[in-house]
Amino acid sequence: MKKIQMVDLRSQYLDIKNEIDKGIQDVIDACAFINGPAVSAFQKDLEQYLGVKHVIPCANGTDALQVSMMALNMKPGDEVITTSFTFIATAEVIALLQLTPVLVDVDPDTFNIDPKAIERAITPKTRAIVPVHLFGQVAPMEEIMEIAKKNNLYVIEDNCQAIGSDYYFSDGSCKKAGTIGHIGCTSFFPSKNLGCYGDGGAIFTNDDELAKQMRVVVNHGMTVRYYHDYVGVNSRLDSIQAAILKVKLARLDEYASKRRTAADFYDEAFKNNTKLKTPVRFSRSNHVFHQYTLVTHDVDRKALIEFLASRDIPAMIYYPVPLHMQKAYLDPRYKPGDFPVTEHLCETVVSLPMHTELDHEQLTHITQSVLEFINR
Ligand SMILES: *Cc1c(COP(=O)(O)O)cnc(C)c1O
Repeated sequence: MKKIQMVDLRSQYLDIKNEIDKGIQDVIDACAFINGPAVSAFQKDLEQYLGVKHVIPCANGTDALQVSMMALNMKPGDEVITTSFTFIATAEVIALLQLTPVLVDVDPDTFNIDPKAIERAITPKTRAIVPVHLFGQVAPMEEIMEIAKKNNLYVIEDNCQAIGSDYYFSDGSCKKAGTIGHIGCTSFFPSKNLGCYGDGGAIFTNDDELAKQMRVVVNHGMTVRYYHDYVGVNSRLDSIQAAILKVKLARLDEYASKRRTAADFYDEAFKNNTKLKTPVRFSRSNHVFHQYTLVTHDVDRKALIEFLASRDIPAMIYYPVPLHMQKAYLDPRYKPGDFPVTEHLCETVVSLPMHTELDHEQLTHITQSVLEFINR
């Protein structure tokens, strides 16, 4: 059996090696390493795929979030509402910009931000909401956009984990994840659903003014060459990474369907098991399974992970610590117990290997091993 990994980038590469190698070689031959034609070609493809007016490539997903918030001209002390159950980057950029992160709890089924909790957290200082489409499925954007409209707030989607997912509105219309709010952000970190071979990221918007402003921010706040009207950052997507992403974007839907097939296999194996709750698929969004995350019930999670490791099966905890209990983010406004759903999830979730190359033999070995431990 092929070695099981959380993400098998090598097997995926071997399958597309010729195209990837050619894309990289073309960039080297042209020596257009920064903002070369490969970057604009990928940008156009992504705009078309997402059905969005502007894609602004940048250096990583964290920068995408930071640049978005810089472009909205928020002032120190302005409040930004986000989820307590996410990767740290979401709150990190809020804190770095001296804005105030306001955390709210998540839905126990989808792990995504709870709109009712957002409404309760709004104050006169609130300026923006940052929903995170966690593990590959879209947060309840229709409700979130209604709340934002009513309260005159910006919405920045942290779409680092759900690129390619579709969101269906109650009227039947559909939009791609990351194109519903005022701004969407994504990461092309290698293990993401659309990953490059290094760091990369992008920002999406349909707003011409915001797009113009964000293009200035990513380029040192420069409006005319060597004239800097704003304090900006240096955040670019490398041409080599763009060439790789162009090849992989053409396969993104196929990759999502492979992930779904693996998820279906897991679901079938674990259905009706009282100790394992399989991912709940939110009817408004098609899950692109960035992660396959189980909620365990009455299971010694550490022993399960050790048992799987003894069978050469990796498993991970995304995420072990809620944001409000991270050392760097301890805040007198919050104490343990404030976000019971998040805290429960941090104690009980476990993510199994999930990628585009999982075969039947590997999936059988993983599911049988999990069940052997659970049922013993
Ligand atoms: C990966 C990720 C980020 C950050 O992306 P980088 O490219 O690593 O900076 C931000 N938010 C979420 C939810 C992520 O999963």
